[in-house]
Amino acid sequence: MAINWTEADIEKVVASVLKNLQANPVSASEKAWDATGYEGRKFVGVYSDMNDAIEAATQGYKAIRAMSLEEREKIIAVIRDLTRKEAPIMAEIGVAETKMGRVAHKIAKHTLVADKTPGTADIVSTAKTGDYGLTLTEMAPFGVVGSITPSTNPSETVICNSIGMIAAGNGVVFNPHPGAIATSNYAVDLINRASLAAGGPRVLVASVVKPTLDTASIMYKHPAIRLLVCTGGPGVVRSVLSSGKKAIGAGAGNPPVIVDDTADIRKAGKDIIDGCTFDNNLPCIAEKEVFAFANIADELIDAMIANGAYKIDRATADRLVDVVLEDKKNPKTGVISKVISRECVGRDAKVILAKIGIHVGDEVRCIICETDFNHPFVQEELMMPILPIVRVKNIDEAIDLAVKAEHGNRHTAHMHSKNIDHLTRFARAVETTIFVKNAPSYAGIGFGGEGHTTFTIAGPTGEGITSARSFTRYRRCVLSESFRII
Ligand code: NAD
Repeated sequence: MAINWTEADIEKVVASVLKNLQANPVSASEKAWDATGYEGRKFVGVYSDMNDAIEAATQGYKAIRAMSLEEREKIIAVIRDLTRKEAPIMAEIGVAETKMGRVAHKIAKHTLVADKTPGTADIVSTAKTGDYGLTLTEMAPFGVVGSITPSTNPSETVICNSIGMIAAGNGVVFNPHPGAIATSNYAVDLINRASLAAGGPRVLVASVVKPTLDTASIMYKHPAIRLLVCTGGPGVVRSVLSSGKKAIGAGAGNPPVIVDDTADIRKAGKDIIDGCTFDNNLPCIAEKEVFAFANIADELIDAMIANGAYKIDRATADRLVDVVLEDKKNPKTGVISKVISRECVGRDAKVILAKIGIHVGDEVRCIICETDFNHPFVQEELMMPILPIVRVKNIDEAIDLAVKAEHGNRHTAHMHSKNIDHLTRFARAVETTIFVKNAPSYAGIGFGGEGHTTFTIAGPTGEGITSARSFTRYRRCVLSESFRII
């Protein structure tokens, strides 16, 4: 079956969206999208009631169960194709809706998902033969997966998870982040358009118009949901792990970077700024704080400045803390605590600097400052282009502080060094799911690095760089006394 949209149609839409957005930045009243549709086209697979969404995903699961691997792979091929073509639209909507990130980087993230998310080839069976015959182990679907997705990579996560979950033969229902519903639901609709175009069901994956904690709770309790996959901060990962169901939790990070005095310092400065500013620091793997040997710290800072960093002094950094972290009162207990300002998360460096009266141009990609270890910029997962640098005496101090700054998330860490003992010692001590050596952070998810990509990095539950096989259950089939042919 042909895809409903021709290439010329898509190019026309992309061109018109980009032109419109340049002329009139999207505002709430003029926008061409909402949680239910885009430019007059109603999203398919998006329901008002979570129970209806789960029922639709259950029907999708039944349809996919009846398909061959080849048919599933055809749907995935069209998903990849549409993702590449419509990446600019999803990137534009993503930035306009969440007010976070950078359009060009979001386009790159979607392309990465299209190119490097494993499909059905990731599902492999193993056989063991011996004196007693043959035992076969196969990766079977769970059934309908309930997936909670973040605001930081909304459509990227929906598409990446869908490819893996469909490849594994599951149905999927999403409870997207309330701050990124239109972007996430655009991606749900894209998956369903791909399914229909490749001969699959009209609704293969589903979502809701107004996701809330209540709709998440319906998903947690619904008997049709056999696996929960949660990508987000510590609160939501905790909630999904206490649901009583099998759950995959992809939680928060606070990736430290160590730079020792054997590193290529100019390259390290560039790599760190490139990684830290990718999509304005939204990826959970992005560099969040640097521990630099004191004898190379000045050279490193110069290299960062040469690559678009703007250095502020300690007093200015302390002023910025009051803008970036705000007081929030717990409505139940009345206790006031510091939370990260949503007005700053994922914003351009120049927008953040303007809030304290410093006006710079687009050439500034990142704000850097020297701080001590206890500074909030080191301790908090800011998810914005602010990078604190802590001077350290030696590798012992560097590893000690970097491990503490990672807070036991065991998510991601980075190091620039040519000393294999230093590299090995830090990797062992920090125990992260991803450890990147001598490259920008995004090499860890296959962008300029080897290996497949994912936007669901499951550290807490151990699946790691998730892919189709993470969403399967292993089943054994034993044939006694036959099929050993040697
Ligand atoms: P968030 O934690 O604010 O929200 C994630 C999702 O959980 C949203 O859909 C939200 O509505 C929902 N949610 C929040 N509390 C919930 C609860 N108690 N019950 C049910 N649902 C609940 O995340 P965000 O701000 O969009 O994303 C940023 C966070 O996610 C960062 O901490 C980042 O490190 C992490 N993250 C991790 C990965 C990973 O792969 N490990 C990927 C992306 C983001």
